[in-house]
Amino acid sequence: FGLLRRQDPEIASVLLDELDRLRGGLQLIASENFTSPAVLAALGSTLTNKYAEGYPGRRYYAGCEVVDRAERLAIDRARRLFGADHVNVQPHSGASANLAAYAALLQPGDTVLAMALSHGGHLTHGSKVNFSGRWFDVVAYGVRRDTELIDYDEVRELALRHRPKMIICGATAYPRAIDFAAFRGIADEVGAWLLADVAHTIGLMAGGALPSAVPYADVVTFTTHKALRGPRGGGIMCTEELAARIDRAVFPFVQGGPLMHAVAAKAVAFGEALRPEFAGYARQVVANARALADGLAAEGMRPVAGGTDSHLALIDLRGTGMSGAAAEARCTAAGITLNRNAIPYDPEPPTVTSGVRVGTPCVTTQGMGAEAMKEVASMVAQAVRNPDAAGEIRARVAELTREYPAYPSEL
Ligand code: PLP
Repeated sequence: FGLLRRQDPEIASVLLDELDRLRGGLQLIASENFTSPAVLAALGSTLTNKYAEGYPGRRYYAGCEVVDRAERLAIDRARRLFGADHVNVQPHSGASANLAAYAALLQPGDTVLAMALSHGGHLTHGSKVNFSGRWFDVVAYGVRRDTELIDYDEVRELALRHRPKMIICGATAYPRAIDFAAFRGIADEVGAWLLADVAHTIGLMAGGALPSAVPYADVVTFTTHKALRGPRGGGIMCTEELAARIDRAVFPFVQGGPLMHAVAAKAVAFGEALRPEFAGYARQVVANARALADGLAAEGMRPVAGGTDSHLALIDLRGTGMSGAAAEARCTAAGITLNRNAIPYDPEPPTVTSGVRVGTPCVTTQGMGAEAMKEVASMVAQAVRNPDAAGEIRARVAELTREYPAYPSEL
């Protein structure tokens, strides 16, 4: 770092300021986490220099013997962790993984059944501003108005009516466990592929805190930077039958050279997740999300779907009279980072929203437990209700983060 500071003080100061931001505030964005220093070391390595188009032992560039070892380790560890037949660790992101999975199984114009963005689905599950909505005929299912849980009867009805080539389960802002067996049954009934996009919950699956999608789905796409606590990136697991199709779809169809430093960092993260402590981490992430949701409920902020089985809670703020956007801004001013989020059947537009999404992967990595979540809930509630309290809350946040630092200050 000393070298960077001498050569490029402007970028060095960005790195230092970001470290200060992470250490000095509360990070409640459900899709973020703090990687280990070992993951950061692999990311900042000379492996970033290497072109390695192709797969281990079958590259289109010379000199890949060393990086091959990293990719083989990543694949072996992920297969062990999830019991998958086949794993591709090259997708640059979750969106790239989904693009490749679509490319492997579908032709443009095919029908896909996926969760509506407004009910918790992802942009890549059929939004008109994304390739998925532009190139495919996407039919959306949602959650029931009364329970705010996925309406499996509606999923089946839509599947029977539209006969999709692929059904997608998995979401971005759905707090409850997904019934993968029910989705498998519906997919089998209509002869559709089942894609489980577990970008958000892969870390909880790895730690056994949520049921795995791997035994049920034909293809499982994921990210490595959320609850799994790895580098920013994606991956795909699939059955042996689909292995060659998935590999060809990632490279050469949608990507060129893989990011070998990121592949090595993924291997490090899978290795960390294979350790017994990771199961304890995953369980604590869920326990903390429940404690946070309960704490916010006690403050008059209603958890959508009655609570959570996962790392995130979606909070309906209508009881407070605040919009999601206003709450996000007030929390930011108080040193708490969370994001506005539409709630199902939200009367407000997506830029405003009636809700916020909170997640516990970061605070759990910092070592916080259920008691600390009560304090966090109280700070969020105070920040949302009273903008004049921002300074006081910042001081409470600073105290809590001193007790549970995100990273060592000398990182
Ligand atoms: N799929 C789901 C369900 C997600 O929640 C996300 C990201 O939040 C993605 C895909 C895309 O991941 P990325 O941002 O790495 O492209």
